[in-house]
Amino acid sequence: MTTETFEFQVEARQLLQLMIHSVYSNKDVFLRELVSNASDALDKLRLAALRDDTPDVDVTDLHIELDVDKEARTLTVRDNGIGMSYEEVTHLIGTIANSGTAKFLEELREAKDAAGADGLIGQFGVGFYSGFMVADEVTLVTRRAGETEGTRWTSRGEGTYTLETVAEAPQGTSVTLHLKPADAENQLHDYTSEWKIKEIVKRYSDFITWPIRLLPEPAEDGAEAREAETLNSMKALWARPRDEVSDDEYHELYKHIAHDWREPLETIRLQAEGTFEYQALLFVPSHAPHDLFTQGYQRGVQLYVKRVFIMDDCEELLQPYLRFVKGVVDAQDLSLNVSREILQQDRHIRMIQRRLTKKVLATVKDLMTSAPDRYATFWREFGAVLKEGLVTDSDNRDAILAACSFASTHDADEPTTLKSYVERMKDGQDDIYFMTGESRQAIEDSPHMEAFRAKGVEVLLLTDAVDEVWVDAVGEYEGKSLRSVAKGEIDLGGTEDDKSDAEKDAQSEEYAGLLGWMTEHLGEDVKEVRLSSRLTVSPACVVSDANELTPALENMYRAMGQ
Ligand code: ADP
Ligand code: MG
Repeated sequence: MTTETFEFQVEARQLLQLMIHSVYSNKDVFLRELVSNASDALDKLRLAALRDDTPDVDVTDLHIELDVDKEARTLTVRDNGIGMSYEEVTHLIGTIANSGTAKFLEELREAKDAAGADGLIGQFGVGFYSGFMVADEVTLVTRRAGETEGTRWTSRGEGTYTLETVAEAPQGTSVTLHLKPADAENQLHDYTSEWKIKEIVKRYSDFITWPIRLLPEPAEDGAEAREAETLNSMKALWARPRDEVSDDEYHELYKHIAHDWREPLETIRLQAEGTFEYQALLFVPSHAPHDLFTQGYQRGVQLYVKRVFIMDDCEELLQPYLRFVKGVVDAQDLSLNVSREILQQDRHIRMIQRRLTKKVLATVKDLMTSAPDRYATFWREFGAVLKEGLVTDSDNRDAILAACSFASTHDADEPTTLKSYVERMKDGQDDIYFMTGESRQAIEDSPHMEAFRAKGVEVLLLTDAVDEVWVDAVGEYEGKSLRSVAKGEIDLGGTEDDKSDAEKDAQSEEYAGLLGWMTEHLGEDVKEVRLSSRLTVSPACVVSDANELTPALENMYRAMGQ
C-alpha cells in the first residue's frame, strides 16, 4: 500500500495555521463540527438507502461514537454513515471548496490584531479543520458505503497531508485527534475527560437526531464491561413545546443546518395541526451569504418527513425572494419516498409555502416596531432580495410593502416606510416621488432634485438594481402613484409657485428662438427642448419621457446585452 504526500492548497494552509496557533478561546466547538459532519453523513446514507436498494450498505444501527484513549491522549469521532471515496477525500478535505472561506481569509488578512482575528474565527468557523485547534495530528479513515476499499488521510496541519488506500475499513468515517500535549494540564481543555465531553455534547449537539454514544473506558481486569452511554436526547427541537427549548438550543440547531457560526437574527416557529400536520422552525440569518445573488445559490429549507431527513434546500417550500431563510419543515403526511417531481405538484406543499411566506413577512414587519435595530440589520442584509417579491409575488405585495423601508430626503439616516411618507405628504401633493440611481450621493447631486429640494417635497432615494423594476410593477400605494422625478413633466401642483398664464406665454415667446436653435443643434439626440420650472440652480437637465426607461434601467438592460 503506497502512501502519497500532498500539499495543501494555499487557502487551506492559511486556515490551518490559524487553527493551530489559534488564541480562540472557545475550542470546544471542534466537537460540534465533527459531530455535525457525522450527522450529515448519516442523513445522507439513510436517504440513499430510502431512494434505491443498495445491497452492500448497512443501515442498521446508524450512530455516532466517541472513543477516548486517555493513555494515548486521543479522541475519536466515528460514524457509520455514507463515508467518502478516495477522490472525495482529496476534494473535500484537501481543498477549500467553500468560497465563504475565501472571503473569511480575505477579511482575516485585513484584521489588524489577534483579537480581531479571534472574532472572525468565531464568526466563520471552518468545519473539519477546527480539529486542529485541539490536536497536533489528525487521522481520518473512511470508506464510502457500497465501496470495498477505504482511505486514510493524515496530517499534522503543517502544509502537507498523506493519503493511502486501506483494505480493511469499516463503513463510514472515523476522525482521530491526537490531542495537544499543551492542553493536558488544563482542565478546561481536557478532551479526554468524560465529564467534559458530556458537557460539550449536551450543550451543542443535543438535538442531533442520531445517537451520540460515548464508549466506556476499558474495564479493569475482572470488572464487568460498562455499556456505551448515549449522551444526547435526540429530540427534534421543532417538535418540542416552545417554552421547553432555550434560545441557545435553537441557535445551535441553526448553526448545524446553516453551516454558520453566527447567531441567527430571528427564530420563527410554526405548528399546523389537523388534516395536514407539520412543524416548521425557520431562521433569518444575521448576515447575507456572499452568493445570494448568484445563479447557483441553493435556496430552501430542509424537508423532514416524520423526523426523517429527506432533503436539503427544498425549493418548493420557499418563494425565491425568501431564499435567505434557513430552517426545517417536518411534514407528517408525506411519503418517505417523496421526490422533487411529486413535491412540485403537491397541493399541501403549496399550502405550507403560502403559510411560511406570510409568517416570515409578518415577522419582519413586527421587527420594525418591536426591535428597530434588528430590523435595520435585516434590511441592510436582505432588503434588496425581499424587494424582488414586489415584482414576483403579487398575492403578498401589500404584506411585502409593509415590511419594506426606503432611504428618503426626509432624514439622512433613518429610512422611511411608504406609510410614513404618505402621512407627511404636502397638501396638494398627489404622488409619491422617488429617484433611482447608483448611490444616495449621486441622486442628491442630480439636477432633477433641485425643485423638490427648493419646495421641500420629499423624495425616496432608491439605489438597488431591483428598485427600477418594482416601482413599475407596483405602480401605486394607497391610491398615490409612484412617480420618478426624472421622468416626464412634473407638476408640483399646489406646492408650485404661481406664474400667471400670461407670464408663462411671455416667457415662452422670449425663449422660442433659443429653444428652436437648441432643438436643431442637438438634432437626433433629443426629442424636444422645453422650458422647465423644475430647476432652481442648474441651467438645464435631461429628462426622460414618462413612459421611457430611466437612465439606470437603460444601463442595466445594456449591461445585460439587450
Ligand atoms: P461543511 O460541513 O460545512 O461542508 P466541513 O469542513 O465540516 O464543511 O466538511 C467538509 C466536507 O467533508 C463535508 O461537506 C463532507 O462532504 C465531508 N465530510 C466531512 N466529514 C465527513 C464525515 N464524517 N462523513 C462523510 N463526509 C464528511
Ligand atoms: Mg461541517
